[in-house]
Amino acid sequence: MTRIYVDFDDVLAKTALAFTHLLEETFGKRVALEEIHSFDLSKSFDLTQEEIDRFMVEAHRPERLIEVEPMEGAVDVLSAWHADGCEIDVLTGRPPSSSDVSREWLSRHRVPHRRLYFVDKYARYDEAAWEGHGRVLRMSELHGDAYDLVIEDSLKTASYLAEATTARVLLFDRPWNRDVSKLPETTVARIERCRDWPEAAALWSGGS
Ligand SMILES: [Mg+2]
Repeated sequence: MTRIYVDFDDVLAKTALAFTHLLEETFGKRVALEEIHSFDLSKSFDLTQEEIDRFMVEAHRPERLIEVEPMEGAVDVLSAWHADGCEIDVLTGRPPSSSDVSREWLSRHRVPHRRLYFVDKYARYDEAAWEGHGRVLRMSELHGDAYDLVIEDSLKTASYLAEATTARVLLFDRPWNRDVSKLPETTVARIERCRDWPEAAALWSGGS
């Protein structure tokens, strides 16, 4: 049984693109995807802490999240893998409060998956914030051989999984994950970059 880890935002869903639209609508600022050089959106969008907090609350409203478009090819590739008997889990760093809308989105777009897990990928949540939203996984629970394949766009998460697990790690190559200067060479070597879902599918089916 092949077990596959798929990230949600900017792997399944075009979340960054939706955020740039919201940025223009809310603050009148235009930032292109290619200009998002930091995963920290307060930097990429040049917003103060108060502005980014307000922005993120608005961005995570269910009526906004449900409208985010799916990434081209995601459902086709995952459906083919599912038909081949792969077990697919979606693991997201979204706030657990977005559970209902995230499940609805996966169902609306017919994303084949076994489970949706909320993971504290960026050490953002304290215990109190987790209460009432079900279980949130810690990154340390993903050690070892839980997954055979990981597909991410977060360099931080991808490098952690490359170091702590035996999974093959594919990273969607994006402006916000290109600075690998702080990573050990052995970690960088474990991460395979691809542009999109067709390329991810070709890499995976081509073997290591
Ligand atoms: Mg992501």
